[in-house]
Amino acid sequence: MLPRLSLFALSQLAGGLAGAWLAGPWGAVAGLCAAPWLWLAWDGWQGARLLAWLRAGEGQQPRLAGPWGEAADRTRRLLRRGRQRERAADARLAAILAALQASPNGVTLLDAQDRIEWCNQTAQEHFGIDAGRDRLQPIANLVREPEFAVCLAASEPGAGVLLAGRAGTAARPVRLSVHLHAYGEGRRLLLSRDITQLEQAEAMRRDFVANVSHEIRTPLTVLVGFVETLQNLPLAEAERARYLALMAEQGARMQRLVQDLLTLSRLEGSPPPGLGDWVDAGALLQGCQGEAQQLSALLCPPGQGHVLAIAAPDGAGTGAAIAGSAAELHSALANLLHNAVRYTPPGGRIEAGWQPLADGGLRFFVSDSGPGIAPEHLPRITERFYRVDAGRSRGSGGTGLGLAIVRHVAQRHGAELQVASTLGEGSRFCIDFPPARVRGAAAGSA
Ligand code: ADP
Repeated sequence: MLPRLSLFALSQLAGGLAGAWLAGPWGAVAGLCAAPWLWLAWDGWQGARLLAWLRAGEGQQPRLAGPWGEAADRTRRLLRRGRQRERAADARLAAILAALQASPNGVTLLDAQDRIEWCNQTAQEHFGIDAGRDRLQPIANLVREPEFAVCLAASEPGAGVLLAGRAGTAARPVRLSVHLHAYGEGRRLLLSRDITQLEQAEAMRRDFVANVSHEIRTPLTVLVGFVETLQNLPLAEAERARYLALMAEQGARMQRLVQDLLTLSRLEGSPPPGLGDWVDAGALLQGCQGEAQQLSALLCPPGQGHVLAIAAPDGAGTGAAIAGSAAELHSALANLLHNAVRYTPPGGRIEAGWQPLADGGLRFFVSDSGPGIAPEHLPRITERFYRVDAGRSRGSGGTGLGLAIVRHVAQRHGAELQVASTLGEGSRFCIDFPPARVRGAAAGSA
Protein backbone atom coordinates (compact mmCIF):
# COMPACT_ATOMS: atom_id res chain seq x y z
CA MET A 1 0.00 0.00 0.00
CA LEU A 2 2.79 2.36 1.00
CA PRO A 3 4.56 2.26 -2.38
CA ARG A 4 1.27 2.99 -4.16
CA LEU A 5 0.53 6.00 -1.89
CA SER A 6 4.10 7.24 -2.45
CA LEU A 7 3.64 6.87 -6.21
CA PHE A 8 0.31 8.70 -6.01
CA ALA A 9 1.94 11.55 -3.98
CA LEU A 10 4.94 11.64 -6.32
CA SER A 11 2.72 11.87 -9.41
CA GLN A 12 0.80 14.75 -7.78
CA LEU A 13 4.05 16.55 -6.91
CA ALA A 14 5.41 15.98 -10.42
CA GLY A 15 2.12 17.31 -11.93
CA GLY A 16 2.22 20.43 -9.73
CA LEU A 17 5.88 21.14 -10.52
CA ALA A 18 5.37 20.57 -14.26
CA GLY A 19 2.27 22.87 -14.23
CA ALA A 20 4.16 25.59 -12.31
CA TRP A 21 7.06 25.42 -14.70
CA LEU A 22 4.80 25.60 -17.74
CA ALA A 23 2.09 28.06 -16.63
CA GLY A 24 2.92 29.54 -13.24
CA PRO A 25 0.68 29.20 -10.15
CA TRP A 26 -2.52 28.35 -12.11
CA GLY A 27 -0.55 25.77 -14.02
CA ALA A 28 0.63 24.28 -10.70
CA VAL A 29 -3.01 23.98 -9.50
CA ALA A 30 -4.05 22.38 -12.81
CA GLY A 31 -1.05 20.01 -12.64
CA LEU A 32 -1.90 19.03 -9.05
CA CYS A 33 -5.49 18.16 -10.06
CA ALA A 34 -4.75 16.40 -13.36
CA ALA A 35 -1.78 14.28 -12.25
CA PRO A 36 -3.76 11.89 -9.94
CA TRP A 37 -6.29 11.25 -12.73
CA LEU A 38 -3.54 10.51 -15.18
CA TRP A 39 -1.85 8.26 -12.66
CA LEU A 40 -5.19 6.51 -11.96
CA ALA A 41 -5.74 5.93 -15.70
CA TRP A 42 -2.22 4.52 -16.12
CA ASP A 43 -2.64 2.36 -13.02
CA GLY A 44 -6.03 1.09 -14.22
CA TRP A 45 -4.54 0.26 -17.62
CA GLN A 46 -1.77 -1.77 -15.92
CA GLY A 47 -4.38 -3.63 -13.88
CA ALA A 48 -6.52 -4.26 -16.99
CA ARG A 49 -3.51 -5.76 -18.82
CA LEU A 50 -2.81 -8.07 -15.88
CA LEU A 51 -6.46 -9.16 -15.75
CA ALA A 52 -6.56 -9.75 -19.52
CA TRP A 53 -3.45 -11.96 -19.27
CA LEU A 54 -4.90 -13.91 -16.34
CA ARG A 55 -8.25 -14.37 -18.11
CA ALA A 56 -6.55 -15.65 -21.27
CA GLY A 57 -4.62 -18.15 -19.10
CA GLU A 58 -1.82 -18.32 -21.67
CA GLY A 59 0.50 -16.12 -23.72
CA GLN A 60 3.43 -13.87 -22.85
CA GLN A 61 3.39 -12.25 -19.43
CA PRO A 62 2.82 -8.43 -19.89
CA ARG A 63 5.65 -6.15 -18.76
CA LEU A 64 4.08 -4.22 -15.89
CA ALA A 65 5.61 -1.73 -13.52
CA GLY A 66 5.40 -1.50 -9.75
CA PRO A 67 3.06 -3.69 -7.71
CA TRP A 68 1.21 -4.87 -10.85
CA GLY A 69 4.50 -6.24 -12.20
CA GLU A 70 5.21 -7.97 -8.91
CA ALA A 71 1.65 -9.35 -8.81
CA ALA A 72 2.13 -10.67 -12.36
CA ASP A 73 5.46 -12.30 -11.43
CA ARG A 74 4.08 -13.95 -8.31
CA THR A 75 0.97 -15.12 -10.16
CA ARG A 76 3.13 -16.59 -12.93
CA ARG A 77 5.27 -18.45 -10.38
CA LEU A 78 2.18 -19.73 -8.59
CA LEU A 79 0.65 -20.87 -11.87
CA ARG A 80 3.88 -22.60 -12.88
CA ARG A 81 4.11 -24.45 -9.56
CA GLY A 82 0.44 -25.45 -9.83
CA ARG A 83 0.98 -26.78 -13.33
CA GLN A 84 4.06 -28.75 -12.21
CA ARG A 85 2.06 -30.29 -9.36
CA GLU A 86 -0.76 -31.09 -11.78
CA ARG A 87 1.64 -32.76 -14.21
CA ALA A 88 3.23 -34.79 -11.38
CA ALA A 89 -0.22 -35.88 -10.15
CA ASP A 90 -1.22 -36.83 -13.72
CA ALA A 91 1.99 -38.86 -14.13
CA ARG A 92 1.39 -40.61 -10.78
CA LEU A 93 -2.20 -41.41 -11.76
CA ALA A 94 -1.06 -42.71 -15.16
CA ALA A 95 1.59 -44.90 -13.46
CA ILE A 96 -0.99 -46.30 -11.01
CA LEU A 97 -3.44 -47.02 -13.83
CA ALA A 98 -0.66 -48.63 -15.90
CA ALA A 99 0.22 -50.85 -12.92
CA LEU A 100 -3.44 -51.82 -12.52
CA GLN A 101 -3.61 -52.42 -16.27
CA ALA A 102 -0.59 -54.73 -16.05
CA SER A 103 -2.16 -56.74 -13.25
CA PRO A 104 -2.86 -60.36 -14.27
CA ASN A 105 -6.10 -60.06 -12.34
CA GLY A 106 -9.18 -58.11 -13.33
CA VAL A 107 -9.48 -54.75 -11.53
CA THR A 108 -12.71 -52.71 -11.68
CA LEU A 109 -13.25 -49.48 -9.72
CA LEU A 110 -16.87 -48.91 -8.70
CA ASP A 111 -18.29 -45.61 -7.45
CA ALA A 112 -20.63 -45.24 -4.47
CA GLN A 113 -23.57 -46.31 -6.67
CA ASP A 114 -21.70 -49.44 -7.87
CA ARG A 115 -21.21 -47.93 -11.33
CA ILE A 116 -18.06 -48.71 -13.32
CA GLU A 117 -15.56 -45.84 -13.09
CA TRP A 118 -12.60 -47.65 -14.59
CA CYS A 119 -11.54 -51.22 -15.36
CA ASN A 120 -8.45 -52.87 -16.78
CA GLN A 121 -8.21 -55.06 -19.90
CA THR A 122 -8.35 -58.30 -17.90
CA ALA A 123 -11.59 -57.24 -16.19
CA GLN A 124 -13.05 -56.40 -19.62
CA GLU A 125 -12.27 -59.93 -20.79
CA HIS A 126 -13.53 -61.51 -17.56
CA PHE A 127 -16.91 -59.74 -17.55
CA GLY A 128 -17.28 -58.99 -21.26
CA ILE A 129 -17.44 -55.24 -20.63
CA ASP A 130 -16.09 -52.30 -22.61
CA ALA A 131 -14.22 -49.73 -20.51
CA GLY A 132 -15.27 -46.84 -22.76
CA ARG A 133 -18.83 -47.82 -23.64
CA ASP A 134 -19.81 -49.11 -20.21
CA ARG A 135 -18.32 -46.32 -18.12
CA LEU A 136 -20.75 -45.29 -15.36
CA GLN A 137 -22.98 -48.28 -16.10
CA PRO A 138 -24.16 -50.08 -12.95
CA ILE A 139 -22.09 -53.27 -12.70
CA ALA A 140 -25.24 -55.20 -11.73
CA ASN A 141 -26.64 -54.51 -15.24
CA LEU A 142 -23.63 -56.16 -16.87
CA VAL A 143 -22.86 -59.03 -14.48
CA ARG A 144 -26.28 -60.48 -13.92
CA GLU A 145 -25.61 -63.75 -12.11
CA PRO A 146 -27.83 -63.95 -8.99
CA GLU A 147 -24.89 -65.00 -6.81
CA PHE A 148 -23.03 -61.85 -7.88
CA ALA A 149 -26.08 -59.72 -6.98
CA VAL A 150 -26.05 -61.29 -3.50
CA CYS A 151 -22.32 -60.61 -3.18
CA LEU A 152 -22.84 -56.99 -4.32
CA ALA A 153 -25.61 -56.50 -1.74
CA ALA A 154 -23.46 -58.01 1.04
CA SER A 155 -21.64 -55.37 3.04
CA GLU A 156 -18.97 -57.51 4.68
CA PRO A 157 -15.45 -56.67 3.48
CA GLY A 158 -13.86 -58.97 0.93
CA ALA A 159 -17.14 -60.71 -0.01
CA GLY A 160 -16.42 -63.23 -2.76
CA VAL A 161 -18.16 -65.47 -5.26
CA LEU A 162 -17.26 -67.93 -8.04
CA LEU A 163 -18.58 -67.07 -11.51
CA ALA A 164 -18.34 -68.34 -15.08
CA GLY A 165 -16.04 -66.13 -17.18
CA ARG A 166 -17.41 -64.59 -20.39
CA ALA A 167 -14.50 -65.92 -22.48
CA GLY A 168 -15.44 -69.52 -21.66
CA THR A 169 -17.16 -71.97 -23.98
CA ALA A 170 -19.01 -75.21 -23.26
CA ALA A 171 -15.86 -77.16 -24.12
CA ARG A 172 -13.48 -74.85 -22.27
CA PRO A 173 -15.29 -73.23 -19.37
CA VAL A 174 -13.56 -70.37 -17.57
CA ARG A 175 -13.97 -70.04 -13.81
CA LEU A 176 -13.55 -66.71 -12.03
CA SER A 177 -13.04 -65.95 -8.37
CA VAL A 178 -14.55 -62.50 -7.74
CA HIS A 179 -14.07 -60.36 -4.61
CA LEU A 180 -15.35 -56.93 -3.54
CA HIS A 181 -13.33 -54.64 -1.27
CA ALA A 182 -14.52 -51.27 0.12
CA TYR A 183 -12.31 -48.19 -0.23
CA GLY A 184 -12.64 -44.38 -0.23
CA GLU A 185 -16.06 -42.92 0.46
CA GLY A 186 -18.48 -45.73 -0.37
CA ARG A 187 -16.43 -46.88 -3.37
CA ARG A 188 -15.61 -50.52 -4.06
CA LEU A 189 -12.83 -52.42 -5.74
CA LEU A 190 -13.94 -55.46 -7.73
CA LEU A 191 -11.12 -57.98 -8.14
CA SER A 192 -11.52 -60.97 -10.47
CA ARG A 193 -9.07 -63.87 -10.90
CA ASP A 194 -9.10 -66.66 -13.48
CA ILE A 195 -8.92 -69.86 -11.41
CA THR A 196 -9.66 -72.30 -14.26
CA GLN A 197 -6.17 -73.82 -14.22
CA LEU A 198 -6.11 -73.88 -10.43
CA GLU A 199 -9.39 -75.79 -10.34
CA GLN A 200 -8.20 -78.14 -13.08
CA ALA A 201 -4.96 -78.80 -11.19
CA GLU A 202 -6.94 -79.44 -8.02
CA ALA A 203 -9.26 -81.84 -9.87
CA MET A 204 -6.22 -83.58 -11.39
CA ARG A 205 -4.63 -83.90 -7.96
CA ARG A 206 -7.85 -85.41 -6.56
CA ASP A 207 -8.11 -87.84 -9.51
CA PHE A 208 -4.45 -88.74 -9.14
CA VAL A 209 -4.75 -89.54 -5.44
CA ALA A 210 -7.93 -91.55 -6.13
CA ASN A 211 -6.19 -93.45 -8.95
CA VAL A 212 -3.07 -94.24 -6.96
CA SER A 213 -5.16 -95.39 -3.98
CA HIS A 214 -7.21 -97.57 -6.30
CA GLU A 215 -4.11 -99.08 -7.92
CA ILE A 216 -2.54 -99.88 -4.56
CA ARG A 217 -5.72 -101.10 -2.86
CA THR A 218 -6.15 -104.21 -5.03
CA PRO A 219 -2.66 -105.71 -4.57
CA LEU A 220 -2.73 -104.75 -0.90
CA THR A 221 -6.08 -106.49 -0.37
CA VAL A 222 -4.72 -109.59 -2.10
CA LEU A 223 -1.53 -109.50 -0.01
CA VAL A 224 -3.42 -109.06 3.28
CA GLY A 225 -5.77 -111.93 2.29
CA PHE A 226 -2.86 -114.28 1.61
CA VAL A 227 -1.09 -113.29 4.83
CA GLU A 228 -4.26 -114.10 6.80
CA THR A 229 -4.59 -117.43 5.01
CA LEU A 230 -0.96 -118.31 5.73
CA GLN A 231 -1.41 -117.32 9.36
CA ASN A 232 -4.65 -119.22 9.97
CA LEU A 233 -4.57 -122.30 7.76
CA PRO A 234 -2.16 -125.22 7.92
CA LEU A 235 -1.20 -125.41 4.23
CA ALA A 236 0.69 -128.02 2.28
CA GLU A 237 4.17 -126.94 1.20
CA ALA A 238 3.20 -126.72 -2.49
CA GLU A 239 0.17 -124.56 -1.78
CA ARG A 240 2.18 -122.38 0.56
CA ALA A 241 4.78 -121.86 -2.17
CA ARG A 242 2.01 -120.96 -4.66
CA TYR A 243 0.55 -118.37 -2.28
CA LEU A 244 3.98 -116.87 -1.64
CA ALA A 245 4.57 -116.63 -5.39
CA LEU A 246 1.25 -114.81 -5.79
CA MET A 247 2.16 -112.49 -2.94
CA ALA A 248 5.50 -111.75 -4.55
CA GLU A 249 3.67 -110.93 -7.79
CA GLN A 250 1.43 -108.39 -6.01
CA GLY A 251 4.45 -106.93 -4.22
CA ALA A 252 6.25 -106.54 -7.54
CA ARG A 253 3.16 -104.83 -8.97
CA MET A 254 3.21 -102.25 -6.20
CA GLN A 255 6.93 -101.82 -6.65
CA ARG A 256 6.49 -101.12 -10.37
CA LEU A 257 3.77 -98.60 -9.58
CA VAL A 258 5.92 -96.76 -7.05
CA GLN A 259 8.85 -96.84 -9.48
CA ASP A 260 6.75 -95.35 -12.30
CA LEU A 261 5.31 -92.71 -9.95
CA LEU A 262 8.80 -91.71 -8.87
CA THR A 263 9.93 -91.56 -12.51
CA LEU A 264 7.00 -89.30 -13.36
CA SER A 265 7.59 -87.01 -10.42
CA ARG A 266 11.29 -86.76 -11.32
CA LEU A 267 10.36 -85.91 -14.92
CA GLU A 268 7.94 -83.24 -13.77
CA GLY A 269 10.16 -81.74 -11.12
CA SER A 270 13.52 -81.42 -12.86
CA PRO A 271 14.75 -79.06 -15.58
CA PRO A 272 14.78 -80.55 -19.11
CA PRO A 273 18.03 -82.28 -20.11
CA GLY A 274 20.55 -80.01 -21.76
CA LEU A 275 22.35 -80.40 -25.08
CA GLY A 276 25.68 -81.39 -23.53
CA ASP A 277 25.28 -85.17 -23.16
CA TRP A 278 25.02 -87.35 -26.27
CA VAL A 279 23.42 -90.79 -26.15
CA ASP A 280 24.27 -93.33 -28.85
CA ALA A 281 21.02 -94.20 -30.63
CA GLY A 282 22.12 -97.70 -31.72
CA ALA A 283 23.34 -98.72 -28.26
CA LEU A 284 20.13 -97.40 -26.72
CA LEU A 285 18.03 -99.58 -29.00
CA GLN A 286 20.21 -102.65 -28.42
CA GLY A 287 19.75 -102.34 -24.65
CA CYS A 288 15.97 -102.14 -25.04
CA GLN A 289 15.97 -105.04 -27.50
CA GLY A 290 17.52 -107.40 -24.92
CA GLU A 291 14.88 -106.45 -22.35
CA ALA A 292 12.05 -106.87 -24.88
CA GLN A 293 13.28 -110.35 -25.78
CA GLN A 294 13.37 -111.34 -22.12
CA LEU A 295 9.85 -110.02 -21.58
CA SER A 296 8.59 -111.85 -24.66
CA ALA A 297 10.12 -115.11 -23.41
CA LEU A 298 8.46 -114.54 -20.04
CA LEU A 299 4.99 -113.84 -21.46
CA CYS A 300 4.82 -116.33 -24.34
CA PRO A 301 4.71 -120.11 -24.21
CA PRO A 302 8.01 -121.72 -25.29
CA GLY A 303 8.46 -121.65 -29.05
CA GLN A 304 5.68 -119.07 -29.58
CA GLY A 305 7.62 -115.91 -28.86
CA HIS A 306 7.23 -112.70 -30.83
CA VAL A 307 9.07 -112.03 -34.06
CA LEU A 308 11.23 -109.07 -33.08
CA ALA A 309 12.54 -107.22 -36.14
CA ILE A 310 14.82 -104.60 -34.69
CA ALA A 311 16.64 -102.41 -37.23
CA ALA A 312 20.12 -103.91 -37.62
CA PRO A 313 22.91 -102.04 -35.81
CA ASP A 314 24.23 -100.80 -39.15
CA GLY A 315 20.78 -99.68 -40.29
CA ALA A 316 19.42 -96.14 -40.46
CA GLY A 317 20.21 -94.07 -37.45
CA THR A 318 23.30 -95.98 -36.42
CA GLY A 319 26.16 -93.73 -35.55
CA ALA A 320 23.57 -91.16 -34.71
CA ALA A 321 23.33 -89.74 -31.25
CA ILE A 322 20.67 -87.85 -29.35
CA ALA A 323 21.33 -85.03 -26.91
CA GLY A 324 19.60 -85.76 -23.65
CA SER A 325 19.34 -88.01 -20.67
CA ALA A 326 20.31 -91.65 -21.32
CA ALA A 327 18.14 -92.92 -18.45
CA GLU A 328 15.05 -91.01 -19.64
CA LEU A 329 15.51 -92.01 -23.29
CA HIS A 330 15.98 -95.63 -22.29
CA SER A 331 12.83 -95.50 -20.18
CA ALA A 332 10.78 -94.05 -23.10
CA LEU A 333 12.04 -96.50 -25.74
CA ALA A 334 11.76 -99.49 -23.39
CA ASN A 335 8.19 -98.53 -22.44
CA LEU A 336 7.11 -98.49 -26.10
CA LEU A 337 8.83 -101.79 -26.84
CA HIS A 338 7.45 -103.43 -23.69
CA ASN A 339 3.93 -102.29 -24.57
CA ALA A 340 4.29 -103.81 -28.04
CA VAL A 341 5.42 -107.11 -26.46
CA ARG A 342 2.74 -107.06 -23.76
CA TYR A 343 -0.19 -106.26 -26.05
CA THR A 344 0.78 -108.32 -29.12
CA PRO A 345 -0.37 -111.93 -28.90
CA PRO A 346 2.35 -114.64 -28.93
CA GLY A 347 3.82 -115.16 -32.37
CA GLY A 348 2.97 -111.60 -33.45
CA ARG A 349 5.44 -109.36 -35.27
CA ILE A 350 7.12 -106.33 -33.71
CA GLU A 351 9.35 -103.96 -35.62
CA ALA A 352 11.45 -101.20 -34.07
CA GLY A 353 14.29 -98.96 -35.14
CA TRP A 354 15.57 -95.51 -35.99
CA GLN A 355 14.63 -93.59 -39.12
CA PRO A 356 16.36 -90.37 -40.20
CA LEU A 357 13.87 -87.57 -40.92
CA ALA A 358 13.95 -85.26 -43.92
CA ASP A 359 14.58 -82.19 -41.73
CA GLY A 360 17.68 -83.75 -40.12
CA GLY A 361 15.80 -85.08 -37.12
CA LEU A 362 15.58 -88.72 -36.06
CA ARG A 363 12.55 -90.94 -35.50
CA PHE A 364 12.28 -93.89 -33.17
CA PHE A 365 9.46 -96.23 -34.21
CA VAL A 366 7.83 -99.35 -32.83
CA SER A 367 5.09 -101.08 -34.76
CA ASP A 368 3.28 -104.26 -33.82
CA SER A 369 0.67 -106.60 -35.21
CA GLY A 370 -1.29 -106.50 -31.94
CA PRO A 371 -4.96 -105.73 -31.27
CA GLY A 372 -4.67 -102.05 -32.20
CA ILE A 373 -6.39 -99.18 -30.41
CA ALA A 374 -9.84 -97.82 -31.33
CA PRO A 375 -9.70 -94.18 -32.55
CA GLU A 376 -11.79 -92.86 -29.62
CA HIS A 377 -9.09 -93.97 -27.17
CA LEU A 378 -6.13 -92.51 -29.06
CA PRO A 379 -6.41 -88.92 -27.76
CA ARG A 380 -6.37 -90.16 -24.15
CA ILE A 381 -3.92 -93.06 -24.01
CA THR A 382 -1.04 -90.89 -22.81
CA GLU A 383 -3.05 -89.73 -19.78
CA ARG A 384 -1.96 -91.18 -16.45
CA PHE A 385 -3.80 -94.39 -15.58
CA TYR A 386 -5.80 -94.37 -18.82
CA ARG A 387 -6.19 -97.91 -20.10
CA VAL A 388 -8.09 -99.27 -23.05
CA ASP A 389 -8.34 -102.74 -21.55
CA ALA A 390 -7.66 -102.52 -17.81
CA GLY A 391 -7.69 -106.29 -17.27
CA ARG A 392 -5.14 -106.91 -19.99
CA SER A 393 -2.94 -104.05 -18.83
CA ARG A 394 -2.82 -105.25 -15.21
CA GLY A 395 -2.55 -108.88 -16.29
CA SER A 396 0.67 -108.13 -18.15
CA GLY A 397 2.14 -106.00 -15.36
CA GLY A 398 1.01 -102.58 -16.60
CA THR A 399 0.77 -99.60 -14.27
CA GLY A 400 -1.13 -97.34 -16.66
CA LEU A 401 1.72 -94.82 -16.48
CA GLY A 402 3.99 -96.05 -19.30
CA LEU A 403 2.80 -93.77 -22.09
CA ALA A 404 2.52 -90.80 -19.72
CA ILE A 405 6.24 -91.30 -19.01
CA VAL A 406 7.00 -91.61 -22.73
CA ARG A 407 5.11 -88.38 -23.48
CA HIS A 408 6.96 -86.51 -20.72
CA VAL A 409 10.36 -87.74 -21.88
CA ALA A 410 9.53 -86.78 -25.47
CA GLN A 411 8.43 -83.29 -24.43
CA ARG A 412 11.54 -82.77 -22.33
CA HIS A 413 13.68 -83.63 -25.38
CA GLY A 414 11.73 -81.35 -27.70
CA ALA A 415 10.38 -84.47 -29.44
CA GLU A 416 6.88 -85.43 -30.44
CA LEU A 417 5.11 -88.69 -29.68
CA GLN A 418 2.82 -89.91 -32.46
CA VAL A 419 0.46 -92.85 -32.37
CA ALA A 420 -1.27 -94.46 -35.33
CA SER A 421 -3.37 -97.55 -34.90
CA THR A 422 -6.00 -99.62 -36.67
CA LEU A 423 -8.23 -101.81 -34.58
CA GLY A 424 -7.44 -105.47 -35.21
CA GLU A 425 -4.34 -104.70 -37.30
CA GLY A 426 -1.78 -103.21 -34.97
CA SER A 427 -0.26 -99.99 -33.71
CA ARG A 428 2.69 -97.79 -34.56
CA PHE A 429 4.29 -95.46 -32.02
CA CYS A 430 6.89 -92.89 -33.14
CA ILE A 431 9.03 -90.38 -31.28
CA ASP A 432 10.36 -87.68 -33.61
CA PHE A 433 13.47 -85.95 -32.24
CA PRO A 434 14.22 -82.45 -33.60
CA PRO A 435 17.43 -81.77 -35.61
CA ALA A 436 18.76 -79.63 -32.73
CA ARG A 437 19.06 -82.77 -30.58
CA VAL A 438 20.37 -85.11 -33.27
CA ARG A 439 23.85 -85.57 -34.69
CA GLY A 440 25.30 -88.06 -37.13
CA ALA A 441 21.99 -89.05 -38.77
CA ALA A 442 21.96 -89.18 -42.57
CA ALA A 443 19.10 -87.05 -43.92
CA GLY A 444 16.22 -89.40 -44.71
CA SER A 445 12.81 -89.26 -46.23
CA ALA A 446 10.60 -90.38 -43.35
P1 ADP B 1 -0.12 -99.75 -19.34
O1 ADP B 1 0.79 -99.90 -18.21
O2 ADP B 1 -1.54 -100.03 -19.00
O3 ADP B 1 0.35 -100.44 -20.56
P2 ADP B 1 0.45 -97.38 -20.86
O4 ADP B 1 0.38 -95.97 -20.46
O5 ADP B 1 1.75 -97.92 -21.28
O6 ADP B 1 -0.14 -98.18 -19.63
O7 ADP B 1 -0.59 -97.60 -22.03
C1 ADP B 1 -1.89 -97.07 -21.91
C2 ADP B 1 -2.88 -97.95 -22.62
O8 ADP B 1 -2.66 -97.87 -24.03
C3 ADP B 1 -2.73 -99.40 -22.28
O9 ADP B 1 -3.48 -99.75 -21.15
C4 ADP B 1 -3.23 -100.09 -23.53
O10 ADP B 1 -4.62 -100.23 -23.43
C5 ADP B 1 -2.91 -99.11 -24.64
N1 ADP B 1 -1.71 -99.52 -25.39
C6 ADP B 1 -0.45 -99.08 -25.22
N2 ADP B 1 0.39 -99.62 -26.10
C7 ADP B 1 -0.34 -100.46 -26.87
C8 ADP B 1 -0.05 -101.32 -27.97
N3 ADP B 1 1.17 -101.44 -28.48
N4 ADP B 1 -1.08 -102.00 -28.52
C9 ADP B 1 -2.33 -101.89 -28.04
N5 ADP B 1 -2.67 -101.09 -27.00
C10 ADP B 1 -1.70 -100.39 -26.42
